[in-house]
This record gives sequence, C-alpha cells and structure tokens, in this order.
Amino acid sequence: MHGFSYRNGELFCENVSLQSLAEEHGTPLYVYSGSTLVDHFSRLDSALSGVSHEIAYAVKANSNLSVLRLLASKGAGFDIVSGGELFRVIKAGGDPAHCTFAGVGKTREEIVYALEQGIYSFNVESEEELRYLNQVAGELGKIAPAAVRVNPNVDAKTHKYISTGKSENKFGVDFGAIADLYERAAAELPNIKLRGLQMHIGSQLTSIDPFIEAVEKVIPLVTSLKEKHGIEFWSIGGGIGIVYEDTLASGSPEWWASKSESERPLTIEKYGEELVPRLKDLGLKILLEPGRYIAGNAGVLITRCLYEKKGSAKTFKIVDAGMNDLIRPALYEGHHEIVPLTEPKTSDRLKVDVVGPICESGDFFCQNRELPDFQPGENIALMSAGAYGFVMASNYNTRPFPAEILVQGGEAKVVRKRQTLEDVIAGEEL
Ligand SMILES: *Cc1c(COP(=O)(O)O)cnc(C)c1O
Repeated sequence: MHGFSYRNGELFCENVSLQSLAEEHGTPLYVYSGSTLVDHFSRLDSALSGVSHEIAYAVKANSNLSVLRLLASKGAGFDIVSGGELFRVIKAGGDPAHCTFAGVGKTREEIVYALEQGIYSFNVESEEELRYLNQVAGELGKIAPAAVRVNPNVDAKTHKYISTGKSENKFGVDFGAIADLYERAAAELPNIKLRGLQMHIGSQLTSIDPFIEAVEKVIPLVTSLKEKHGIEFWSIGGGIGIVYEDTLASGSPEWWASKSESERPLTIEKYGEELVPRLKDLGLKILLEPGRYIAGNAGVLITRCLYEKKGSAKTFKIVDAGMNDLIRPALYEGHHEIVPLTEPKTSDRLKVDVVGPICESGDFFCQNRELPDFQPGENIALMSAGAYGFVMASNYNTRPFPAEILVQGGEAKVVRKRQTLEDVIAGEEL
C-alpha cells in the first residue's frame, strides 16, 4: 500500500497535489511519501515480531539524506555497499554500530573508514577479501567483525541482472565451501571476529518459494556455525518484490482483498508467516536488508509531455524525463505504471510509446502500451520509482539531476534541490 491516489480528479501524494508540486518545482521531479516509507518499515517490523530481528535498510535503493533520517528515527539500521553510503548514513544521523557493509570490491580506504566508525559487520564476499580485512584490521590494531555471504545456489526466478544467489553470479562464497572457510578463519585470522552469516539471493522476488528454499537449505549450516564459532546473527538479505504493473490501484486495501491467493503478489505478512516459524528457534538475531520493499512504491517520477509525434508505425509521447533520470526500463526491462496527474475522464486508451529526449533508442518508459491519452503540456507520473530511481540518475547528455521532494502529511519539503548547469560542470577545468 502507498500514499498516492486520485482525489477529486487530481493525483495526490498524501495531502499534497502532485500538479501543484510540478508547477512549483518544475519537472522532472521525484516525489516521495514519508508515511509510505514508515508504513512499510513498520509492517515488516511487525511481520517479524515473532523472532529477534533488526531491519538494515538497503541504502542503495534510495539514499537521500532525509529518507535515511526518517528511517533512522524509526529505528532502522542500514546495509551499505560503499564508504560513500556510510558517510551518508552518518550525515543523516544513523548509527554505524547498526550498519552492515556488503559488496564484492571494498577498497582499503573504505575498510579503514568503516573500522574507524565501528560498523556492526563487514559482509565479506570472498576468502581473499576476508584475509585482506584481517590484514588491514591488524595494521590498525582493531578486530573486524565479519560475516561471510553464502551463495546458496537457489534460483530467485527474477530478471537475470538482479539474480544474485546462483553459483554463476559474482556474489558470495559457494555453499559447500563456507564451513571450511570459517574453520580456517578461526584458526588463521586473529583480527577477525566471526559475528554472523549473510545471504541475499536476488531482488524483486514476487514468490515466497525461493526465500523458503534458501532458508531451509542454509539452516543446518548456520546452526553448525553458531555451535562451532558462536556467531550471533544471520542476515537473510532483502529482495522482497513490489507491485509495478498495477501500482496505483494497489494503494487501496480493496485491491488486495479482490485478489485470490494465487493472483496476489507476495505480501509482507505472508513473508513473516512463512519465515518466522522457521527462524524463531535458531537462537540467532535475524537481519533483514530490504531496499525496494521499503522505498519502491513510496516514490513517483513526475514528467511533462513535450510533444506528440505520430510516426508511420507508432505514436510517440515525448516527455521531459529520460533514461538518465530513471534507468530501470533500459537496464532491467523494468515496468512502471504511467498515470496522468489529472484523472482521465473516459476509459479510452491509445497505444503509445512514452520516450525521453536522450539520444538512445533504449530511452523509453514504455512501448506499445495502451494508455489514457495525454497532451503536450500535461504532466504524468511514473509510479513505483522510489527505489533504484534517483540513485541511478546520471548527467548523461549534460542533463541536471532532478529535484527530490519528501511529503509528510500536508507538508512537502525539497530534500534535494534541482541541479543547475553550473553544478553539473563544477570540478571540470579548461
Ligand atoms: C541490493 C541489496 C539488497 C537490497 O535488495 P532489495 O531487492 O532492494 O531489497 C540487500 N542486500 C544486499 C547485499 C544487496 O546487495
């Protein structure tokens, strides 16, 4: 569920009209719903209430400082993938002692910074990295808390670019090699404290089955690691999928109630019901690393239609946002529901491609999709753009980053100013 709906024919985020935001701040414009971010966090927290747990929000999904601050104020920890993300968490008022650090390529500078800040755990992705972490910690006279990421070789049944838990992916250490690696680490790496085990099998999982398969496969391993090495946590990763096709309708409880069990996307309540009984007696703290689930449906990208171009084969609606603002369609064949900010008065649909101004054929938001008609000058919303949206924006084609707005109730705050052209070239020299 989320905070976006039509009221008297206009699309609102909570109590704020998106058209009024577009007029005041221009387009393209990212708008986030604070109550949706908090609601998703709280619902996950309740769904896991039967087991000792901590939610480490995956910062890479949406790293705006105000988003991080809001989640930190609700008690979130953070899963980071770079020194830069740790810097953001600290700036936002998050606690490094509740941060886990993932990623296959941590540099010396990043390791030193995270050790000095006292993070909760380095989630290590290879034996080489574990040995290097031991060496750097030794040089600093510190003990590095660590968990190894196990690759359980489970098929997450998601897009190939966001599947991470198969043996052919670059992530983690093979399931069969973990026990020996912990033995060697305990014997040979005095500056490592083995604190946990981590896994993350992929993103945008819309079925519970791969989660269950991975958890059941890893339980014997994690149990034995606890006995032998006294580990205290098991991170079961993120990856909970969200609604992309029918996002607007899915904002209401009636939409969920109208779906049969088999049609209904994975709910967080189901996730909790299936996993908690399997996890609650392990005597381990369960860490969760959701990104998309928290932020995805909490944001939209507003863009203005510039031109309608009728080609011989197709009709193109050319808008002022491009793949540099939201790359998911180009990168992952991602689907975003497209809705006009003014509620359509008829059910007429027109088959169109909605495309951006960038000089790339991959620069589209949909192709051959039946949409309500909208005209040049009108604004539309690309739904479900709160995760992996702004964070992947670039200045390609020398286009400034869009502004970001955070709505809370009736209040809308600019949480990131639109970039100016001077900002874009800052740092370049003639
Ligand atoms: C990206 C990532 C996540 C978050 O994935 P979502 O699908 O956004 O929940 C969690 N853990 C790790 C290690 C990741 O790389």
